Amino acid sequence: MRRRAARGPGPPPPGPGLSRLPLPLLLLLALGTRGGCAAPAPAPRAEDLSLGVEWLSRFGYLPPADPTTGQLQTQEELSKAITAMQQFGGLEATGILDEATLALMKTPRCSLPDLPVLTQARRRRQAPAPTKWNKRNLSWRVRTFPRDSPLGHDTVRALMYYALKVWSDIAPLNFHEVAGSAADIQIDFSKADHNDGYPFDGPGGTVAHAFFPGHHHTAGDTHFDDDEAWTFRSSDAHGMDLFAVAVHEFGHAIGLSHVAAAHSIMRPYYQGPVGDPLRYGLPYEDKVRVWQLYGVRESVSPTAQPEEPPLLPEPPDNRSSAPPRKDVPHRCSTHFDAVAQIRGEAFFFKGKYFWRLTRDRHLVSLQPAQMHRFWRGLPLHLDSVDAVYERTSDHKIVFFKGPAVLALR
Ligand SMILES: [Zn+2]
Ligand SMILES: [Zn+2]
Repeated sequence: MRRRAARGPGPPPPGPGLSRLPLPLLLLLALGTRGGCAAPAPAPRAEDLSLGVEWLSRFGYLPPADPTTGQLQTQEELSKAITAMQQFGGLEATGILDEATLALMKTPRCSLPDLPVLTQARRRRQAPAPTKWNKRNLSWRVRTFPRDSPLGHDTVRALMYYALKVWSDIAPLNFHEVAGSAADIQIDFSKADHNDGYPFDGPGGTVAHAFFPGHHHTAGDTHFDDDEAWTFRSSDAHGMDLFAVAVHEFGHAIGLSHVAAAHSIMRPYYQGPVGDPLRYGLPYEDKVRVWQLYGVRESVSPTAQPEEPPLLPEPPDNRSSAPPRKDVPHRCSTHFDAVAQIRGEAFFFKGKYFWRLTRDRHLVSLQPAQMHRFWRGLPLHLDSVDAVYERTSDHKIVFFKGPAVLALR
């Protein structure tokens, strides 16, 4: 556990509470930390100081207090740790627990530490050797899905597929989904304590973590906090964009650690949605780091059978919030232009819209979705279709409109 703690998700949380800090340190903190200034900074509140010390210990900036020797952080150590945290987070490096620093500490983030975790026995930090997979074909599986979430299983699986594809598009790695229990990357949605020593903490706080590559049985496993309101293409500012967090966590699962760079997906803090999963490209900073581990992806082998990309349904949040449009047909008072069986699901087309019935006969949305938003490559002016089918030879979806025929993935 100790060995894994240096490379796995966040260390066990207990940092010292305020009551355990020595009196001289409390006095120093009360006086502010920048000696010699005319106007000392206001002293942090007791609960903020307690939160700050615990936070800094948890994410690798401070060694936890040693319960056997009672050795605690010195003021100098604490100030240095705050400075390092501020520099990593892109804040002004004041060494003081100011408002901006506390606000960043309260920002939802990944559970993994930003720096290798310090221990009392080893107060010096050693950069660990980067770990990476020795194989290039990696299997994955969503073992447990979010409960009470508007995101259906197919949507979650599709988002995982596209979040992994972000990495395999640029590096020589191949991810394939499997059904069995032997997947390299096991994906779980869990709450609170979930038996890996790294409990989640309810809404906000830590939202996900992943294990670095290696030989231990959890290597590559990726866990999402099921107490978060996971969203997809949502305008809800309070939700947690599942695709954005998944891209970050899969970065860990292939060996990348946190970085301070402002535009990296590997920043530890939640940064909000990153755009359309079908079009997202990694920042240059992250490309370089993954190339350093695995090299550049030359090209896809022409003989390789590409995996069928899953369909991404309309985001659930838009179903109720989208204003009704006059040209949108109602499913009960219309006839359909075409009906097609596509990948086991039934699609009903009317005008430029369609409804989708899943394998278990569940209507994905009462509101129809627009064809051109679902199938990239369909002409925007296409206002209806005459017929649609899934071609068995290559599983492309073939659209007929008058004399025109278009086959799309
Ligand atoms: Zn992370
Ligand atoms: Zn976990």
